[in-house]
Amino acid sequence: MSASTVRDRNASAWLLTPDGSRTRPDLLDGMRRYADTDEVDIAIIGCGAGGSVLLQRLARAGWSAVAFDAGPFWDPERDWVSDEAGSHHLYWTEPRQIGGGDPVPLGSNNSGRGVGGSMIHYAGYTPRFHPSDFRTLTTDGVGADWPIAYGDLARYYADIENELPVAGEDWPWGDPHSYPHHAHPVSGNGETFLRGAEAAGVTAKVGPVAIANGRFGHRPHCIYRGFCLQGCKVNAKASPLITHLPDALEHGAEVRADSMVASIGFDERTGRATGVHYFRDGVPRFQRARMVAVAGYSIETPGCCSTRHRRASRTGCATTSTRPGATSWCRARRRRPAASRTRSGCGRRPRPRSAPSSSTRPTRRNPTSAGTPSRRCRRCRSRGRST
Ligand SMILES: Cc1cc2nc3c(=O)[nH]c(=O)nc-3n(C[C@H](O)[C@H](O)[C@H](O)COP(=O)(O)OP(=O)(O)OC[C@H]3O[C@@H](n4cnc5c(N)ncnc54)[C@H](O)[C@@H]3O)c2cc1C
Ligand code: SF4
Repeated sequence: MSASTVRDRNASAWLLTPDGSRTRPDLLDGMRRYADTDEVDIAIIGCGAGGSVLLQRLARAGWSAVAFDAGPFWDPERDWVSDEAGSHHLYWTEPRQIGGGDPVPLGSNNSGRGVGGSMIHYAGYTPRFHPSDFRTLTTDGVGADWPIAYGDLARYYADIENELPVAGEDWPWGDPHSYPHHAHPVSGNGETFLRGAEAAGVTAKVGPVAIANGRFGHRPHCIYRGFCLQGCKVNAKASPLITHLPDALEHGAEVRADSMVASIGFDERTGRATGVHYFRDGVPRFQRARMVAVAGYSIETPGCCSTRHRRASRTGCATTSTRPGATSWCRARRRRPAASRTRSGCGRRPRPRSAPSSSTRPTRRNPTSAGTPSRRCRRCRSRGRST
């Protein structure tokens, strides 16, 4: 696919500063900004791998769209350094609820927080699934079959490989395919591995990476300094911050950084999403929106979709998927008749209390959990009385 075809669809790489070091300041200064009271077509929770691409595509289609991100709008030139110790601010290490009732602090090199999401510090490796990966239950008797097949995704793989773009050797396995850029040279230990594999009669290939091999638009060539997991200051490694967001801004999208979404608002009467409740500078706000998409990665996507907001939880929040890495559309539907819902709270019954054990100790979130006669629902904190 020629560069001009990609540019017709996504001109981001050409919308960077000529030295490729940052998003053009005029794009940010002139960014469209909506008021909380404007009803936008869509509010997207999370401006990472999934949210940014959705934002760009919808902005190009003429939608009024705002993507919220809990972290900052990075400027690679100003904010990143080629140094491990100085890069800890890229990782979301604050205590978060990943299971059970207690938030736990997460290690570094975990999910990202900031515009561009985890692709800011991901490794850049971009293999496709094999066709057989979509039906592991049928072929291998493990996992579950996907409701879609490889063929449904093949053209989208090719599209995104051109837009990032991806560099790698021709892939001989599964559905054999090539990549838009030639493979990067490998290091000394990689050469040793390839020689060993050849001597042993094992086919080995240089894997695909979303790292430009040569100049691409205003983006420069990789300089092989090896700080891909610290945010590529050079901007040779793909992240939505430089691959899709400049084009989204050019087409009228807004990115609202430093804005943590707490929950989705719903209309009690119609059961439809009405916008997002979010915090900025510690102040609670509400952005009106006709639709809401959730793209907050594996911890926050289920968190947002678990409808912790009480009004939301009454109607229920249906998502097409809460798989890690997937974008989930949020729409409301009634899950069960009103009579079976609890008077206050989310309609789930608190789990019955089992015999006290060491795991029912008092916690910071629930200081009276041990020894209390009835248990609060972990989502909405109600005691689950039936109407
Ligand atoms: C260290 C590391 C290395 C990786 N290496 C690879 C690799 O080599 N190849 C590969 O294919 N994948 C890799 N991954 C995985 C890949 O980065 C993720 O699968 C992908 O980024 C997920 O996309 P996403 O849009 O779901 O989430 P993200 O890209 O993480 O974006 C989510 C965004 O949502 C924001 N957010 C979350 N909750 C809220 C909220 N409530 N309000 C506002 N904003 C919110 C976050 O700040 C974040 O910016 C790696 C991941 C990590 C952590
Ligand atoms: S220039 Fe190349 S090696 Fe250095 S961080 Fe970027 S992608 Fe990684």
